[in-house]
Formats: sequence, C-alpha cells, structure tokens
Amino acid sequence: MRLPAYVARAVDTLECAGYETWAVGGCVRDSLMGRTPHDFDLCTAARPEEMQAVFAGARLLETGLRHGTLTLLTADGPVEITTFRADGDYADGRHPNSVRFVRCVEDDLARRDFTAGAMAWHPQRGLCDPFGGRDDLRRGVLRAVGDPDARFAEDALRILRAVRFVSQLGFAVEGQTAAAMRRQQGRLACIAPERVRTELTGTLCGRFACRALMQYADVLFTVLPELRPMYACAQQNPHHLYDVWEHSVRAVGQVAAEPVLRWAMLLHDCGKPACKTVDESGIGHFYGHPDVSRAIAAGLLRRLRFSGQEQDEIGLLVEQHDRPLGDSAKLVRRRLTQLGETNFRRLLAIKKGDAVGQGTHPDNVGALWETEALLNQTLAADACLSLRQLAVDGRDMLALGLRGPAVGEMLRALLDAVVDQTTENTAGALLALARARMEERK
Ligand code: ATP
Ligand code: MG
Repeated sequence: MRLPAYVARAVDTLECAGYETWAVGGCVRDSLMGRTPHDFDLCTAARPEEMQAVFAGARLLETGLRHGTLTLLTADGPVEITTFRADGDYADGRHPNSVRFVRCVEDDLARRDFTAGAMAWHPQRGLCDPFGGRDDLRRGVLRAVGDPDARFAEDALRILRAVRFVSQLGFAVEGQTAAAMRRQQGRLACIAPERVRTELTGTLCGRFACRALMQYADVLFTVLPELRPMYACAQQNPHHLYDVWEHSVRAVGQVAAEPVLRWAMLLHDCGKPACKTVDESGIGHFYGHPDVSRAIAAGLLRRLRFSGQEQDEIGLLVEQHDRPLGDSAKLVRRRLTQLGETNFRRLLAIKKGDAVGQGTHPDNVGALWETEALLNQTLAADACLSLRQLAVDGRDMLALGLRGPAVGEMLRALLDAVVDQTTENTAGALLALARARMEERK
C-alpha cells in the first residue's frame, strides 16, 4: 500500500511530534483490494488539542471535535484525522453516550464495525490487523468485529452499512453476522432518515446492487415498508418472467449507477400490488399503477428527506415510465418539448431497464434505440422545441392586440405548429398564422 504524498506528510508530521499515527478503515481495505481509495482517514494517539498544536498554522476543520475528529485541508485534498478512541455505551442505538480516548491503535480498531474496515496501515510498521480482516477480505467475507448482535444493537446503522458493503464490494456476509442483522433489524426504526437514505442510495448504486437487494430484501423492507407488498407479488402476465420485486431489482441493475435513475427504477412499479386485478383467463393486470407508484414513492421520498428537486425528478420518472416516448420524429419532438432533454434521456434509460427487467420481448428495447436515434437527430437538427426558441415572443402578441392569458395560449399554439412542422419558425410565418387564428375566433 502506498499513501499519497499529502497523506504521508500528515502521518510524518504527527509521528515527528511523538504521536503514533496510522491510515485506517476504508482506505486500507480499498488499497488491499487493488481499488483506489476515495478518501484517506488517519487515526492517531494525539488528542484533538494536540493535533491543533501540531498543525498550528495549517487549515483545520473541527469536523467532530467531541469524537476526536479534525479535518486537515491540504492543497491536494482533505485528510480526516481521529484520535484513537473506544466508544462508551450506546443508550439510543445511534450515538455512543461517551467516547474514551485510548492510547493504542488496537483498542481503536476494536470499536469499528466490520473486520475488513478494522485494519490500520503504517508506512514503516506495515499492517495492523488484529481481527483477521485481511483473510476476510481475501475470501470476500463481511464479518462483524466481536459479537454481532451487540455491535448492531449499539448502532443499527451498521446493518444498512453491511447491505451497502455487499452491494459495493460484492462480499458475502458471514453467517452469524447475517443472522444478527436480521435479529436486530427492528432497531433501524431509531436511525435518522437522512442516514438511512445515504446508505440506501449507496446500496442502490453499488456494482452488486441486484445481489444485495435480493438477499437482504427483508432487511430493506424494515426501512422501506411501502415496498414489502412487491415481494412475491406474481404478475401472472405473459409479458413478465419475474414477480414485481425481482423485476424491479433486475431493472435497477440495467440503468446507470446514478441515484435518481436507480431510485426511480426501484420505485417505478411499487404501486402494482395495490392495482392488481386478474381477468377471467387468469392474466394479471395493473391498470393505473404508474400514478399509484408515484403517490407511494412521494411519501417514501419525503420521509427519507430527499430534496424537493430529487422528489420531483424521481416522481416524474416513476409517473411517466409507461408512457410512450414516440416512434416517429413528430411524436419525439412533441415529447421533447414537454419533457426537456434530461428527462427524455432518463426516461429512455428507465424504459430500457424496465423492458430488459421483464425478461421477455427483447424487441421492445430495439424500438427504444430507434427512439433514441430520433431524439439525437432532432437535437442535431437544432429544431425549435421551446418558447424561448420561437421566432416571436409576447411583445409580438401584444402588438397583434392579444391580452392576458390569450398571449401565452397563442404562443403555445404557435410552438405546437412549429414542433409539428405545419409552419416554419419565422416571424413572418408565425405572425400570419396568429392573425389567421384570431380571425377564426371572431
Ligand atoms: P467507504 O468510505 O468506502 O464507504 P469506509 O469503511 O471508509 O467505507 P466510512 O463511513 O468512511 O466507511 O468510515 C470509516 C471507518 O470508520 C470504517 O472503515 C469503519 O472502520 C469505521 N466506521 C464508520 N462508521 C461506523 C459505524 N457506524 N460503526 C462502527 N465503525 C464505523
Ligand atoms: Mg471512508
């Protein structure tokens, strides 16, 4: 393992001042796995005030002073540095009542949740691995440090961290640890919704998301109870190979690992169980399910404290997932004016994911590639698709004598005509059309 120079310098600075200091946690795990760490955490014998003295003059953020954490800002990136500590009791299943600073790295590693993240590394002393993290890493095993029930009871968020690590690292949870996750999952009720959201988004965007969502569906339903009816909800429909949950999970795996897309894919059919009917021939139908899915999704997203913008973006994709995007240039132009390019492209991705996730009718995906080609042609042609691009504006309408809401209505009618290519986007043609329309109304 090699530390980047700016991290190695921080280690040196503390060591030269007499404080033992190690790289710890995710960066050690990721390096041993041959992955590039996304950030570097250090742990040290120095107390926060001692760190402040050592780094006097440098830029330090008091990220979590009470827990012994400071962030050193360097030109090359931030380094989070935490005093060796052991956690006191957890009364509320979330926060330790107290933290005790300790003087050795092994005691610090013992408070960490999983063996793979409970290793420290030092440029001269090498790896410190008191819990067999390296072996677990080699075998791809996620194992709680110490007694798993006690660890999940202390901090139930660890249960969702485990599911996230399954999704991101592709690990299998060791048997006792997995059993304890299930025994303790009821404690997830006391975890802050924002933290639940962060772990779930990480889970949805992991490379092995489908595996994690299938294996730990029951755990996830304790924080997403609205989705439980999807589980084993048979579709009884020749267009579908899988039940509603498995279909949705497979669809999640088909879209890019972007939070908005993955959440929309997970939620797109969540209204199906409530909408299910079975006809005389035994075929299942789900009339009106996109609107019901949107309503259920809206409640779930609000509860998990998604931003207003994310709620709108995900909600729109859920609601529109079943509506056609158009199989002709004209229809594509119309939908593009309604949706805008970003939503149009996201819906294309959602519809492809949905189609592949059905496990039948691969030709449906072929049609979507054609729609995408039409979209690209339309955009390349620089067609007029919004009021902003129209060759006339409100002032022109006022000059024609229109007033109030009639101005906007006329502009939208002119835009429709341009989008449908029944008129050209020139001031002359549009003013003539507007006059003709006004004449008709007289
Ligand atoms: P990543 O940053 O890739 O998500 P990580 O393992 O670095 O994974 P962080 O949340 O950055 O996770 O935490 C850094 C380290 O702190 C972890 O490796 C783990 O040792 C410890 N840790 C974090 N959260 C907890 C927790 N809730 N309980 C116990 N230990 C934790
Ligand atoms: Mg980390």
